[in-house]
Amino acid sequence: MSKITLAEAAQILNNNDRFVLATHIHPDGDAIGSTLALMHALKKAGKQVEVYIDDKAPRIFSFLPGYELIKRPPENLPSAKLTADRLVILDANIDRISRVKDMTDAKVLNIDHHISNDEAADELYLDADRAAAAEIVYEVIKEMGVAFDSDIAVCLYTGIATDSGFFRYASTKPFTMRAAAELMEYDVKPNIVSEATEEKSFATVKGMAAALSTVELFAAGKAAGIFLDLPLVETLETTEGFIDNVRIIEGVDTAVMVKCQEANVCRVSMRSKRLDVAKIAVKFGGGGHIRAAGCTLNMPFAEAKRVIVAELTEALAALYRQ
Ligand code: 5GP
Ligand code: MN
Repeated sequence: MSKITLAEAAQILNNNDRFVLATHIHPDGDAIGSTLALMHALKKAGKQVEVYIDDKAPRIFSFLPGYELIKRPPENLPSAKLTADRLVILDANIDRISRVKDMTDAKVLNIDHHISNDEAADELYLDADRAAAAEIVYEVIKEMGVAFDSDIAVCLYTGIATDSGFFRYASTKPFTMRAAAELMEYDVKPNIVSEATEEKSFATVKGMAAALSTVELFAAGKAAGIFLDLPLVETLETTEGFIDNVRIIEGVDTAVMVKCQEANVCRVSMRSKRLDVAKIAVKFGGGGHIRAAGCTLNMPFAEAKRVIVAELTEALAALYRQ
């Protein structure tokens, strides 16, 4: 592994010709926005680019130009590998792109903003102070000397807006606002981006009501959780954004969602005001940011709930004792 500078990342992109781009499973607005923006910029610079995500790309992002070009690895991977000069991984470590890493033997260039990055890539440009991977891609594209256009701009804006909670989270800096303002000059419509990315089906809103009705307070009121068992999860199209309705509870530092995906596989999402939830996620093999992190617990739902409630209760007691 070697850590590289922004200029070196831009140079690697400019000096090579064939790229496979990838991002994490459970892709969000930043994952898809940063990846598609870099795809557009590389194509504009005359490069060959393919984008692979080993998961469904949620339909709410279908308004992004280039969405239809995202490919999903086939069930049985072909034995012939994709030839490329670089596999570029955005907004994630290598281990979160799942089977895309098996599709090519190309050297890995990793561009990320997660403090928990495992630094396993051949070349890593990491800036954990950036609110979104799309903020870094904004800088990289400038450094490459590729001019922004409306396709690049709407993808970057979507990544920055969604990962910063539409400019509300602590990660939002003057840089975030300046980048977004500049991108708006290329015909980005903030209302179109928020309407598209926040849209939920009627069934999902009904499901959200059922999910929210599981809400519990714990850790002396410093934490709140929603706990979604398998029968409930099976009725839901998505749980995106559910946790945002939990973290607003008065007095709550940390919000958690435990979601049973299949027997013995539970996804955990955490959001906090003060607690370092990335540390807790990493402890369980996951990762993220100080105030937004997640992990997967390979255990039955009741046990996952017990484990995460105990862990948060202890961490919050220690934090608020200080
Ligand atoms: P979410 O709760 O929205 O799934 O994730 C919150 C943040 O934590 C995101 O930045 C996401 O990329 C990161 N994250 C969530 N789950 C995992 C995980 O299992 N592993 C790692 N490394 N990061 C995760
Ligand atoms: Mn991100």
